[in-house]
Amino acid sequence: MIKSERKTIFREDLCTRCGICFNKCPVLELPIEEAKKEIIRLIEGKQSKYVLSKCNTCFSCNLYCPENANPYQLILERWNDLYNKRGVPPLYTFVCPTRQGNIWQLLNVFLSTQEKKWILKWMNNTPQSNDIVLLIGNYTHLFPFIIGGSKILDYFTPVDLIDQWEGGAYLYQGGYLDLVQKIAYRTKQDFDEWNTKNIVAALDAVEYIFQEAHPKHMNIEHQQSFSSLQQWLLDNIKSEELKIENPLNMAITVHDNCYSKVLGGKYWNIAREILKKCGCEIKEMRHNKEDSLCCGFGAGASWVKNISIPFDIIHEGIKKFREAEETGANALVSYCGGCIYLLWATKELMGSKIDLFHIIEVVRMAMGEKLDYPQVHIERAWDIIAIITYVWILSLLQKRFYIKKITYDQNKSTFRPKNFYLLKFIRNAFKSSLMKKIFRKIFLLLTKLLNTREKIIPL
Ligand code: SF4
Ligand code: SF4
Repeated sequence: MIKSERKTIFREDLCTRCGICFNKCPVLELPIEEAKKEIIRLIEGKQSKYVLSKCNTCFSCNLYCPENANPYQLILERWNDLYNKRGVPPLYTFVCPTRQGNIWQLLNVFLSTQEKKWILKWMNNTPQSNDIVLLIGNYTHLFPFIIGGSKILDYFTPVDLIDQWEGGAYLYQGGYLDLVQKIAYRTKQDFDEWNTKNIVAALDAVEYIFQEAHPKHMNIEHQQSFSSLQQWLLDNIKSEELKIENPLNMAITVHDNCYSKVLGGKYWNIAREILKKCGCEIKEMRHNKEDSLCCGFGAGASWVKNISIPFDIIHEGIKKFREAEETGANALVSYCGGCIYLLWATKELMGSKIDLFHIIEVVRMAMGEKLDYPQVHIERAWDIIAIITYVWILSLLQKRFYIKKITYDQNKSTFRPKNFYLLKFIRNAFKSSLMKKIFRKIFLLLTKLLNTREKIIPL
């Protein structure tokens, strides 16, 4: 039961209707007069011409607004209104842990025995009051090998509850604000039951959600202290608790995720400091930090047609790789686990040669830990591509829906694997290089034909 009302974060009283937010938006780049009309349409709750169908939910407009009016949260409010009218596209089952056929359940079919052992341990851990909890979260769960078996885990009690929905971080970005409030309340109950004081989130986005978005937007205060794994890594590298035994001497470029644009950009600097300490030289992309482009995930937030969502996402992800390749760096590094699974899928589909690491992997390599790179990532990318294809095919026959259940049902678990014959057939087909090649060509052709993201407004 929700016991409090959400707060309004958009400051209509401060907004001068200047249009700068959508004019500077790296995705929309609306002419200024059109941008002014669009912000008025959004404020008045009238039919949006561009933003609600094209926004990549990247947070940048909040940084562009000279009045600190938070236009991003206005977009989220309007998407929340749309959700109440039209529900979510059937493909969204993919990221709903409480629905049958979600990615975590489907991935169970392909996890290795070692990965299952890690995950089961993390799912069954019950923290004690003096433990430092590491929230593994829904996205790190998809590639547990980036941290499983590392010395880094010795410092924490890792907890992996997929029905905590990363605190609602990815639903927040899609504007599902009423649902995020329910999740805020549910996670508060979990944390209070654990009676623990210190919680470290594997994703920066999750630290922000618990520390800032839940109290300030959802009106739900947590009693615990939150920090990010990135900050912990930097502090422990500086104190030499984590020793850099093997400086990497690698030129890299950094993907700044959407949530990194909050809190004055503190996450941009933490990531870069860690990478430099690991021996990396940083080559910036054309769009970086406040202007950084989305990994593609956000393109699904402003969905117009269910059929187009995967192609919109990959279309946007390809832009990121093109910019990364232009830098001449050896590797693209993401410090968000939510981005990296889609970036790997994009890399495999477009055939990009640039290496791709999660920042935890970079630290582990610099510490002298051995990784099974890139093989394990390539296999997981094709697991994910098979799952996306399978869910996309099914979704063509399904209807929009509303997310009714927030909490995972232990008795009718949506986590247990079933005999997903079609999924297994698709994944087996991807074991053949010829089939991969044919699939890539078809996918990229459909990306050209079906994506809804090409030219936004004729200039
Ligand atoms: S939200 Fe900010 S940038 Fe956008 S129109 Fe209002 S004042 Fe201008
Ligand atoms: S969130 Fe990003 S993509 Fe959306 S309008 Fe703002 S700047 Fe543009």
